[in-house]
Amino acid sequence: MSKNSKIKIIVAFFVFLMLFLIVNRIITKKSNTKDVELQTSLLFNQVNKSSVAKIDKYVIYGTHLNLEGNIQIPKISGISIYSVHVIAKDLEGKEISMDCSYTYKDTILSFSTFDNINEGLCLENLSQNHYYLLLKVIFSNSEERLFSLENNSKYENTTYYTMSKRNKVDLEFGKHEKSPFMKLSVTNLKDLPNDVYDIAIDASHGGKDTGATYKKYKESDIVLKYAKNLKQKLEALGYKVYISRDGTESQDADLSDMYAEKGRINTIQESHSKLLVSLNINDTRTKTGGVEIYAPTKCNLSFAKSLADNIVKTAKTSYSSAKLFNKEKGVYVRNFTEYDILSYKGSALIHKYEPYNITKLTPYQYMIREVGGIVTGAFVDGRNKSYGTNKYYDSNIGIEAYIIELGYIRYENDITNIVNNENLYCDAIVETIKGYIKDEE
Ligand SMILES: [Zn+2]
Repeated sequence: MSKNSKIKIIVAFFVFLMLFLIVNRIITKKSNTKDVELQTSLLFNQVNKSSVAKIDKYVIYGTHLNLEGNIQIPKISGISIYSVHVIAKDLEGKEISMDCSYTYKDTILSFSTFDNINEGLCLENLSQNHYYLLLKVIFSNSEERLFSLENNSKYENTTYYTMSKRNKVDLEFGKHEKSPFMKLSVTNLKDLPNDVYDIAIDASHGGKDTGATYKKYKESDIVLKYAKNLKQKLEALGYKVYISRDGTESQDADLSDMYAEKGRINTIQESHSKLLVSLNINDTRTKTGGVEIYAPTKCNLSFAKSLADNIVKTAKTSYSSAKLFNKEKGVYVRNFTEYDILSYKGSALIHKYEPYNITKLTPYQYMIREVGGIVTGAFVDGRNKSYGTNKYYDSNIGIEAYIIELGYIRYENDITNIVNNENLYCDAIVETIKGYIKDEE
């Protein structure tokens, strides 16, 4: 064989191989989409077509999705409802189930997955798949019925970015043939969009506002050092971290309007973080000092409890002995009291605006309440002209927020420990965050 024809054969072989690979790829791709269509149809075949559940509200708080809604189910004599669940069913038929609290009255079944706001369907640990959310009703005769979900809320499709794996979760409402659906599609992602962060750290006070001061110590300076340190440590673990200020703000900047366009409430929410930790140091004089963690209302306190425990253990400090609003050792939940509500009403009267809708379940601290949107009852909607507007007060996506009071500035043991053992405090906080996110997986 001549050299030329040998080359020809080799070239022909490679051309053939390329063609084979291309055709093969097209065929597999086609059968993949065909598979997805088939599996989707199979899934919808199991759905009861007699009724559809209407979703009145759906929220993502931190890493969890919750929803509530209602459905009409005619009474069947002799048979009652045994239990109600919202399930996320993937295309292989595997399902994740959430128990619902419910009421059934005059053929209307109202259901809700809300229990604690930081529990529900965890968006961190979904696999790369499509999940259809369905309502599962189990009757007293063991019969099970699945119903599809229709969006009846004012909130539309959204995207969630996971912290643990770089996944993107697209939440989408749509229609499959005649059935409406609510669907989560999980795909892998190389990098987060520029404006999306995992964790936000708030260095409280700043500019003209020094926060608590004692001798040479300034709360604003200390928490800024802590915030930068935490950012570095968390970034070393692969998280993308946003800090509310980095020290480049001028010493006489006025940061007192936290609801201003560039104030900390709006900018933290623009970071699309899932978790927020706000750093503070207590001011009042105390004989015992100690750490206080402030958590949101109606929430599982395990993260707040680990924060307190780890800081006390690692930084060799103590739990605060303050009794007011105390829930567990070092853990506090501060809601509006009757007195607070009255004084807010009085202030509304003076400044001539319609009083806010505040209840004894509304979190008092703005750093917890206002970044949580509707879940935590954010209310700064601009009616009070002495402040800016929280652009996200009505959002159905909220940041799970905690306030850490590292200790008491006027208690010598606390302040010297806080200044000298910054790394121990920061390590304790980082370890707790790492553990919390890992638990979600
Ligand atoms: Zn403070």
